[in-house]
Amino acid sequence: MSTAPRLAAAKKDWGHDETGCTVLHIDMDAFYASCEVARYPELKGKPVIIGTGTRSVVSAASYEARVYGINSAMAVSRARKLCPQGIFLPVDMAYYHYISHEIFKTVFSRITDRIEQVSVDECFMDVSGALMRWGSPTNIARWIRSTVAENFNVTCSVGIASNKLVAKMASTNAKPDGMLLIPKDRQADFVQLMPLRGIPGIGPALEKRLNAWGVKDVADLAKMSEHDLTRATGSKISARMLYLSSHGLDQSKVRHRPPEKSIGAERTFMHDTTSMEQVCGLLRTCSDEVATSLRAQDLVARTITVKLRFDDLRYMTKARTLQTPVSTATRIYPRAVELLKRMLGIPDLAPMTTPLPRLIRLAGVSASGLSKVKETPIQPSLEDVIEEDDHKAGSGAKRMDHAEAAIDTIRNRYGRGSVNLGV
Ligand SMILES: [Mg+2]
Repeated sequence: MSTAPRLAAAKKDWGHDETGCTVLHIDMDAFYASCEVARYPELKGKPVIIGTGTRSVVSAASYEARVYGINSAMAVSRARKLCPQGIFLPVDMAYYHYISHEIFKTVFSRITDRIEQVSVDECFMDVSGALMRWGSPTNIARWIRSTVAENFNVTCSVGIASNKLVAKMASTNAKPDGMLLIPKDRQADFVQLMPLRGIPGIGPALEKRLNAWGVKDVADLAKMSEHDLTRATGSKISARMLYLSSHGLDQSKVRHRPPEKSIGAERTFMHDTTSMEQVCGLLRTCSDEVATSLRAQDLVARTITVKLRFDDLRYMTKARTLQTPVSTATRIYPRAVELLKRMLGIPDLAPMTTPLPRLIRLAGVSASGLSKVKETPIQPSLEDVIEEDDHKAGSGAKRMDHAEAAIDTIRNRYGRGSVNLGV
Protein backbone atom coordinates (compact mmCIF):
# COMPACT_ATOMS: atom_id res chain seq x y z
CA MET A 1 0.00 0.00 0.00
CA SER A 2 1.50 3.25 -1.13
CA THR A 3 1.92 6.04 1.36
CA ALA A 4 3.18 8.49 -1.29
CA PRO A 5 1.46 11.84 -0.95
CA ARG A 6 -1.50 12.60 -3.19
CA LEU A 7 -2.69 16.03 -4.14
CA ALA A 8 -6.35 16.72 -4.80
CA ALA A 9 -5.25 19.52 -7.15
CA ALA A 10 -3.30 17.07 -9.31
CA LYS A 11 -6.30 14.89 -10.12
CA LYS A 12 -7.63 17.06 -12.90
CA ASP A 13 -7.74 17.24 -16.66
CA TRP A 14 -4.19 17.92 -17.86
CA GLY A 15 -5.06 17.84 -21.55
CA HIS A 16 -5.62 15.13 -24.15
CA ASP A 17 -2.52 15.02 -26.30
CA GLU A 18 -1.33 11.44 -25.95
CA THR A 19 1.59 11.73 -28.37
CA GLY A 20 4.53 9.80 -26.97
CA CYS A 21 2.65 8.86 -23.79
CA THR A 22 3.24 5.15 -24.13
CA VAL A 23 4.17 4.28 -20.55
CA LEU A 24 1.42 3.06 -18.24
CA HIS A 25 1.78 2.56 -14.53
CA ILE A 26 -0.95 0.31 -13.21
CA ASP A 27 -1.51 0.08 -9.49
CA MET A 28 -4.30 -1.97 -7.97
CA ASP A 29 -6.18 -0.10 -5.26
CA ALA A 30 -5.84 -1.35 -1.66
CA PHE A 31 -5.04 -4.69 -3.27
CA TYR A 32 -5.07 -7.11 -0.34
CA ALA A 33 -8.21 -5.52 1.06
CA SER A 34 -9.85 -5.54 -2.40
CA CYS A 35 -9.01 -9.26 -2.79
CA GLU A 36 -10.70 -9.96 0.55
CA VAL A 37 -13.78 -7.98 -0.47
CA ALA A 38 -13.82 -9.88 -3.77
CA ARG A 39 -14.16 -13.21 -1.96
CA TYR A 40 -16.34 -11.91 0.88
CA PRO A 41 -18.66 -9.48 -0.93
CA GLU A 42 -20.47 -8.75 2.34
CA LEU A 43 -17.38 -6.70 3.32
CA LYS A 44 -17.97 -4.19 0.54
CA GLY A 45 -18.11 -0.62 1.83
CA LYS A 46 -16.71 -1.62 5.23
CA PRO A 47 -13.40 -0.68 6.83
CA VAL A 48 -11.28 -3.75 6.05
CA ILE A 49 -7.80 -3.94 7.52
CA ILE A 50 -5.31 -6.65 6.60
CA GLY A 51 -3.14 -7.57 9.53
CA THR A 52 -4.01 -9.19 12.82
CA GLY A 53 -2.03 -10.03 15.90
CA THR A 54 -1.21 -7.53 18.60
CA ARG A 55 2.44 -7.27 17.58
CA SER A 56 2.08 -7.00 13.83
CA VAL A 57 1.58 -4.07 11.47
CA VAL A 58 -1.14 -3.23 8.97
CA SER A 59 -0.36 -4.65 5.51
CA ALA A 60 -3.25 -2.98 3.73
CA ALA A 61 -6.43 -1.08 4.45
CA SER A 62 -9.52 -0.44 2.37
CA TYR A 63 -10.28 3.17 1.51
CA GLU A 64 -13.14 3.01 4.02
CA ALA A 65 -10.57 2.18 6.69
CA ARG A 66 -8.15 4.89 5.59
CA VAL A 67 -10.78 7.48 6.47
CA TYR A 68 -10.00 6.63 10.11
CA GLY A 69 -6.35 7.50 9.54
CA ILE A 70 -5.21 3.92 9.14
CA ASN A 71 -2.07 3.41 7.06
CA SER A 72 0.20 0.58 6.07
CA ALA A 73 3.01 -0.17 8.50
CA MET A 74 0.94 1.20 11.38
CA ALA A 75 0.80 -1.09 14.42
CA VAL A 76 -2.34 -3.23 14.35
CA SER A 77 -2.99 -2.34 18.01
CA ARG A 78 -3.09 1.35 17.05
CA ALA A 79 -5.37 0.66 14.08
CA ARG A 80 -7.77 -1.19 16.39
CA LYS A 81 -7.95 1.87 18.62
CA LEU A 82 -8.56 4.21 15.67
CA CYS A 83 -11.24 1.96 14.18
CA PRO A 84 -12.67 -0.49 16.71
CA GLN A 85 -15.48 -1.47 14.33
CA GLY A 86 -12.92 -2.34 11.60
CA ILE A 87 -12.79 -5.82 10.14
CA PHE A 88 -9.30 -7.17 10.77
CA LEU A 89 -8.27 -10.10 8.59
CA PRO A 90 -5.07 -12.14 8.49
CA VAL A 91 -2.73 -11.79 5.51
CA ASP A 92 -3.33 -14.54 2.92
CA MET A 93 -0.38 -13.96 0.62
CA ALA A 94 -0.92 -17.11 -1.43
CA TYR A 95 -4.40 -15.95 -2.33
CA TYR A 96 -3.27 -12.41 -3.25
CA HIS A 97 -0.50 -13.88 -5.40
CA TYR A 98 -3.01 -16.09 -7.12
CA ILE A 99 -5.36 -13.20 -7.95
CA SER A 100 -2.44 -11.02 -9.03
CA HIS A 101 -1.16 -13.74 -11.25
CA GLU A 102 -4.57 -14.23 -12.87
CA ILE A 103 -4.86 -10.48 -13.53
CA PHE A 104 -1.40 -10.33 -15.10
CA LYS A 105 -2.03 -13.42 -17.17
CA THR A 106 -5.58 -12.82 -18.36
CA VAL A 107 -5.63 -9.02 -18.63
CA PHE A 108 -2.25 -7.27 -18.74
CA SER A 109 -0.46 -9.84 -20.88
CA ARG A 110 -3.14 -9.55 -23.53
CA ILE A 111 -1.98 -6.02 -24.30
CA THR A 112 1.75 -6.58 -24.56
CA ASP A 113 4.61 -8.61 -23.12
CA ARG A 114 6.52 -5.41 -22.37
CA ILE A 115 5.51 -5.49 -18.75
CA GLU A 116 7.72 -4.76 -15.78
CA GLN A 117 6.11 -6.18 -12.70
CA VAL A 118 7.14 -4.14 -9.67
CA SER A 119 5.18 -5.94 -6.99
CA VAL A 120 2.16 -8.16 -6.53
CA ASP A 121 -0.19 -5.26 -7.34
CA GLU A 122 1.84 -2.92 -9.51
CA CYS A 123 3.50 -2.81 -12.93
CA PHE A 124 4.78 -0.62 -15.71
CA MET A 125 3.73 -1.33 -19.27
CA ASP A 126 5.22 -0.01 -22.50
CA VAL A 127 2.32 0.08 -24.96
CA SER A 128 4.22 1.57 -27.91
CA GLY A 129 3.97 -1.73 -29.78
CA ALA A 130 0.28 -2.23 -28.98
CA LEU A 131 -1.19 0.99 -30.37
CA MET A 132 -1.95 -0.36 -33.85
CA ARG A 133 -4.13 -3.05 -32.39
CA TRP A 134 -5.56 -1.34 -29.31
CA GLY A 135 -5.72 2.32 -30.28
CA SER A 136 -4.59 5.04 -27.92
CA PRO A 137 -2.91 4.57 -24.52
CA THR A 138 -6.05 5.90 -22.79
CA ASN A 139 -8.13 3.28 -24.64
CA ILE A 140 -5.82 0.61 -23.32
CA ALA A 141 -5.99 2.00 -19.79
CA ARG A 142 -9.78 2.15 -19.92
CA TRP A 143 -10.01 -1.43 -21.11
CA ILE A 144 -7.63 -2.63 -18.41
CA ARG A 145 -9.54 -0.83 -15.69
CA SER A 146 -12.95 -2.09 -16.70
CA THR A 147 -11.77 -5.66 -17.36
CA VAL A 148 -10.00 -5.99 -14.01
CA ALA A 149 -13.00 -4.51 -12.19
CA GLU A 150 -15.52 -6.76 -13.96
CA ASN A 151 -13.61 -10.00 -13.75
CA PHE A 152 -11.93 -9.66 -10.39
CA ASN A 153 -13.90 -7.06 -8.43
CA VAL A 154 -10.66 -5.18 -7.93
CA THR A 155 -10.22 -1.58 -9.04
CA CYS A 156 -6.97 -0.23 -10.36
CA SER A 157 -5.58 3.20 -11.03
CA VAL A 158 -3.56 3.96 -14.13
CA GLY A 159 -1.09 6.73 -14.84
CA ILE A 160 -0.25 7.44 -18.48
CA ALA A 161 2.81 9.47 -19.43
CA SER A 162 5.90 9.53 -21.58
CA ASN A 163 8.13 8.03 -18.90
CA LYS A 164 8.06 5.79 -15.84
CA LEU A 165 8.54 8.54 -13.26
CA VAL A 166 5.59 10.64 -14.39
CA ALA A 167 3.38 7.59 -15.05
CA LYS A 168 4.00 6.37 -11.51
CA MET A 169 3.29 9.78 -9.99
CA ALA A 170 0.17 10.04 -12.15
CA SER A 171 -1.26 6.72 -10.96
CA THR A 172 -0.61 7.71 -7.34
CA ASN A 173 -2.58 10.89 -7.87
CA ALA A 174 -5.32 9.10 -9.82
CA LYS A 175 -6.17 6.92 -6.82
CA PRO A 176 -8.52 5.43 -5.98
CA ASP A 177 -10.12 3.94 -9.08
CA GLY A 178 -8.95 6.63 -11.47
CA MET A 179 -6.90 7.33 -14.54
CA LEU A 180 -4.62 10.26 -15.21
CA LEU A 181 -2.97 11.23 -18.49
CA ILE A 182 -0.10 13.68 -18.27
CA PRO A 183 0.71 15.00 -21.76
CA LYS A 184 4.38 15.38 -22.55
CA ASP A 185 4.30 19.19 -22.53
CA ARG A 186 2.65 19.24 -19.09
CA GLN A 187 4.88 16.78 -17.27
CA ALA A 188 7.14 19.43 -15.73
CA ASP A 189 4.12 21.44 -14.48
CA PHE A 190 2.58 18.30 -13.02
CA VAL A 191 5.70 17.23 -11.16
CA GLN A 192 6.39 20.75 -9.89
CA LEU A 193 3.02 20.80 -8.17
CA MET A 194 4.16 18.06 -5.80
CA PRO A 195 5.70 18.03 -2.35
CA LEU A 196 9.24 16.61 -2.25
CA ARG A 197 8.04 13.24 -1.01
CA GLY A 198 5.88 12.96 -4.11
CA ILE A 199 8.98 11.99 -6.07
CA PRO A 200 9.67 8.28 -5.69
CA GLY A 201 13.07 7.93 -4.07
CA ILE A 202 12.86 11.01 -1.87
CA GLY A 203 12.53 9.69 1.68
CA PRO A 204 12.48 11.52 5.02
CA ALA A 205 16.29 11.83 5.25
CA LEU A 206 16.74 13.38 1.80
CA GLU A 207 13.71 15.59 2.36
CA LYS A 208 15.29 16.96 5.55
CA ARG A 209 18.57 17.56 3.80
CA LEU A 210 16.87 19.47 0.97
CA ASN A 211 14.76 21.44 3.46
CA ALA A 212 18.00 22.60 5.06
CA TRP A 213 18.93 24.13 1.68
CA GLY A 214 15.63 25.98 1.56
CA VAL A 215 14.06 23.49 -0.85
CA LYS A 216 10.51 22.89 0.35
CA ASP A 217 8.84 21.32 -2.68
CA VAL A 218 9.50 20.09 -6.21
CA ALA A 219 9.02 23.60 -7.64
CA ASP A 220 11.92 24.79 -5.45
CA LEU A 221 13.92 21.77 -6.48
CA ALA A 222 13.45 22.62 -10.15
CA LYS A 223 15.09 26.00 -9.55
CA MET A 224 18.31 24.41 -8.27
CA SER A 225 21.19 23.82 -10.63
CA GLU A 226 22.76 20.40 -10.83
CA HIS A 227 25.88 21.88 -9.33
CA ASP A 228 24.02 23.15 -6.22
CA LEU A 229 22.18 19.87 -5.92
CA THR A 230 25.50 18.05 -5.88
CA ARG A 231 26.61 20.25 -2.98
CA ALA A 232 23.29 19.77 -1.19
CA THR A 233 23.20 16.00 -1.48
CA GLY A 234 26.91 15.24 -1.59
CA SER A 235 26.34 12.97 -4.58
CA LYS A 236 26.55 13.62 -8.30
CA ILE A 237 24.26 10.71 -9.08
CA SER A 238 21.54 11.90 -6.68
CA ALA A 239 21.86 15.42 -8.02
CA ARG A 240 21.34 14.19 -11.57
CA MET A 241 18.33 12.12 -10.53
CA LEU A 242 16.77 15.03 -8.61
CA TYR A 243 17.41 17.46 -11.43
CA LEU A 244 15.74 15.22 -14.04
CA SER A 245 12.86 14.29 -11.73
CA SER A 246 12.07 17.90 -10.86
CA HIS A 247 11.62 18.56 -14.59
CA GLY A 248 9.47 15.48 -15.09
CA LEU A 249 12.21 13.62 -16.94
CA ASP A 250 13.24 10.00 -16.56
CA GLN A 251 15.40 8.00 -18.93
CA SER A 252 14.87 4.53 -17.51
CA LYS A 253 13.16 2.04 -19.77
CA VAL A 254 10.37 -0.39 -18.99
CA ARG A 255 12.32 -3.54 -18.39
CA HIS A 256 10.80 -6.76 -19.59
CA ARG A 257 10.20 -8.67 -16.41
CA PRO A 258 7.51 -11.20 -17.19
CA PRO A 259 5.07 -12.08 -14.43
CA GLU A 260 5.50 -15.32 -12.57
CA LYS A 261 4.11 -18.31 -14.35
CA SER A 262 1.53 -20.77 -13.16
CA ILE A 263 0.02 -23.88 -14.66
CA GLY A 264 -3.67 -24.42 -14.28
CA ALA A 265 -6.63 -26.44 -15.49
CA GLU A 266 -10.30 -25.73 -14.97
CA ARG A 267 -13.67 -26.76 -16.37
CA THR A 268 -17.24 -25.53 -16.23
CA PHE A 269 -19.85 -28.15 -15.37
CA MET A 270 -22.62 -28.85 -17.86
CA HIS A 271 -25.05 -28.24 -14.99
CA ASP A 272 -24.27 -26.47 -11.73
CA THR A 273 -23.76 -29.08 -9.03
CA THR A 274 -23.66 -29.60 -5.26
CA SER A 275 -22.20 -33.10 -5.59
CA MET A 276 -18.87 -33.36 -3.80
CA GLU A 277 -18.13 -36.53 -5.74
CA GLN A 278 -18.54 -34.72 -9.03
CA VAL A 279 -16.48 -31.69 -7.97
CA CYS A 280 -13.73 -33.90 -6.57
CA GLY A 281 -13.77 -35.95 -9.76
CA LEU A 282 -13.13 -32.77 -11.71
CA LEU A 283 -10.39 -31.68 -9.31
CA ARG A 284 -8.82 -35.09 -9.90
CA THR A 285 -8.82 -34.60 -13.66
CA CYS A 286 -7.45 -31.07 -13.30
CA SER A 287 -4.76 -32.20 -10.84
CA ASP A 288 -3.68 -34.83 -13.34
CA GLU A 289 -3.54 -32.29 -16.17
CA VAL A 290 -1.55 -29.82 -14.09
CA ALA A 291 0.85 -32.51 -12.89
CA THR A 292 1.39 -33.77 -16.44
CA SER A 293 2.25 -30.27 -17.68
CA LEU A 294 4.59 -29.73 -14.76
CA ARG A 295 6.49 -32.92 -15.51
CA ALA A 296 6.55 -32.18 -19.23
CA GLN A 297 8.41 -28.96 -18.43
CA ASP A 298 10.61 -30.49 -15.71
CA LEU A 299 8.98 -28.25 -13.13
CA VAL A 300 7.86 -28.65 -9.57
CA ALA A 301 5.32 -26.43 -7.82
CA ARG A 302 5.26 -25.17 -4.30
CA THR A 303 1.78 -23.64 -4.17
CA ILE A 304 -1.49 -25.35 -5.05
CA THR A 305 -4.62 -23.27 -5.59
CA VAL A 306 -8.21 -24.37 -6.00
CA LYS A 307 -10.62 -22.09 -7.75
CA LEU A 308 -14.41 -22.34 -7.62
CA ARG A 309 -17.03 -20.36 -9.39
CA PHE A 310 -20.56 -20.46 -8.03
CA ASP A 311 -23.95 -20.29 -9.71
CA ASP A 312 -24.08 -16.52 -9.04
CA LEU A 313 -20.77 -16.22 -10.99
CA ARG A 314 -18.82 -15.18 -7.91
CA TYR A 315 -15.60 -17.02 -7.49
CA MET A 316 -13.53 -18.15 -4.57
CA THR A 317 -9.98 -19.39 -4.40
CA LYS A 318 -7.85 -20.89 -1.72
CA ALA A 319 -4.18 -21.66 -1.90
CA ARG A 320 -1.75 -23.65 0.12
CA THR A 321 1.99 -23.49 0.00
CA LEU A 322 3.59 -26.86 0.60
CA GLN A 323 6.72 -27.71 2.46
CA THR A 324 7.85 -30.04 -0.31
CA PRO A 325 7.38 -29.01 -3.97
CA VAL A 326 5.25 -31.40 -6.02
CA SER A 327 4.72 -32.55 -9.59
CA THR A 328 2.28 -35.47 -9.35
CA ALA A 329 -1.49 -35.73 -9.15
CA THR A 330 -1.05 -38.13 -6.25
CA ARG A 331 0.32 -35.24 -4.24
CA ILE A 332 -1.70 -32.41 -5.73
CA TYR A 333 -5.17 -33.96 -5.62
CA PRO A 334 -5.39 -34.58 -1.84
CA ARG A 335 -4.32 -30.96 -1.24
CA ALA A 336 -6.98 -29.80 -3.69
CA VAL A 337 -9.68 -31.74 -1.82
CA GLU A 338 -8.50 -30.30 1.50
CA LEU A 339 -8.68 -26.81 0.06
CA LEU A 340 -12.15 -27.46 -1.37
CA LYS A 341 -13.42 -28.62 2.02
CA ARG A 342 -11.86 -25.72 3.84
CA MET A 343 -13.33 -23.22 1.38
CA LEU A 344 -16.81 -24.57 1.86
CA GLY A 345 -16.55 -25.26 5.59
CA ILE A 346 -16.85 -29.04 5.23
CA PRO A 347 -15.23 -31.20 7.94
CA ASP A 348 -12.06 -33.04 6.83
CA LEU A 349 -13.53 -36.49 7.36
CA ALA A 350 -16.92 -35.83 5.75
CA PRO A 351 -17.88 -38.63 3.31
CA MET A 352 -17.98 -38.05 -0.46
CA THR A 353 -21.78 -38.20 -0.36
CA THR A 354 -21.95 -34.98 1.69
CA PRO A 355 -23.74 -32.37 -0.41
CA LEU A 356 -21.85 -29.10 -0.94
CA PRO A 357 -23.49 -26.03 0.61
CA ARG A 358 -23.38 -24.06 -2.66
CA LEU A 359 -24.02 -24.76 -6.33
CA ILE A 360 -20.72 -25.02 -8.16
CA ARG A 361 -20.43 -23.88 -11.76
CA LEU A 362 -16.70 -24.25 -12.34
CA ALA A 363 -13.77 -25.78 -10.54
CA GLY A 364 -10.07 -25.81 -11.22
CA VAL A 365 -6.61 -26.41 -9.86
CA SER A 366 -3.45 -24.46 -10.47
CA ALA A 367 0.15 -24.77 -9.46
CA SER A 368 2.50 -21.84 -8.88
CA GLY A 369 5.78 -21.12 -7.15
CA LEU A 370 7.35 -23.07 -10.00
CA SER A 371 10.98 -24.06 -10.27
CA LYS A 372 13.04 -26.47 -12.31
CA VAL A 373 13.36 -29.91 -10.75
CA LYS A 374 17.14 -29.83 -11.06
CA GLU A 375 17.42 -26.49 -9.28
CA THR A 376 15.07 -27.43 -6.46
CA PRO A 377 16.47 -29.08 -3.38
CA ILE A 378 13.73 -31.44 -2.28
CA GLN A 379 13.57 -31.86 1.42
CA PRO A 380 11.17 -34.58 2.47
CA SER A 381 8.37 -33.32 4.68
CA LEU A 382 7.71 -34.83 8.09
CA GLU A 383 4.73 -36.67 6.56
CA ASP A 384 6.96 -38.20 3.90
CA VAL A 385 9.41 -39.40 6.51
CA ILE A 386 6.66 -40.91 8.65
CA GLU A 387 5.10 -42.58 5.64
CA GLU A 388 8.49 -43.90 4.60
CA ASP A 389 8.94 -45.49 8.03
CA ASP A 390 5.46 -46.98 7.88
CA HIS A 391 6.05 -48.74 4.58
CA LYS A 392 9.70 -49.57 4.44
CA ALA A 393 9.25 -51.23 1.09
CA GLY A 394 8.33 -47.90 -0.53
CA SER A 395 5.45 -45.67 0.49
CA GLY A 396 2.11 -45.41 -1.27
CA ALA A 397 2.65 -41.87 -2.53
CA LYS A 398 6.19 -42.66 -3.65
CA ARG A 399 5.03 -45.66 -5.65
CA MET A 400 2.31 -43.55 -7.24
CA ASP A 401 4.93 -40.91 -8.21
CA HIS A 402 6.73 -43.62 -10.18
CA ALA A 403 3.44 -44.77 -11.69
CA GLU A 404 2.76 -41.25 -12.97
CA ALA A 405 6.18 -41.04 -14.59
CA ALA A 406 5.37 -44.32 -16.35
CA ILE A 407 2.01 -42.93 -17.46
CA ASP A 408 3.79 -39.96 -19.07
CA THR A 409 5.83 -42.37 -21.17
CA ILE A 410 2.72 -44.25 -22.32
CA ARG A 411 0.81 -41.05 -23.05
CA ASN A 412 3.71 -39.60 -24.99
CA ARG A 413 3.69 -42.69 -27.17
CA TYR A 414 -0.02 -43.49 -27.49
CA GLY A 415 -1.78 -40.17 -26.86
CA ARG A 416 -3.38 -38.42 -23.92
CA GLY A 417 -6.45 -40.59 -23.53
CA SER A 418 -4.54 -43.87 -23.69
CA VAL A 419 -4.19 -44.31 -19.96
CA ASN A 420 -5.63 -42.73 -16.83
CA LEU A 421 -4.74 -42.82 -13.21
CA GLY A 422 -7.36 -44.53 -11.04
CA VAL A 423 -8.55 -42.48 -8.07
MG1 LIG B 1 -1.57 -0.80 -4.95
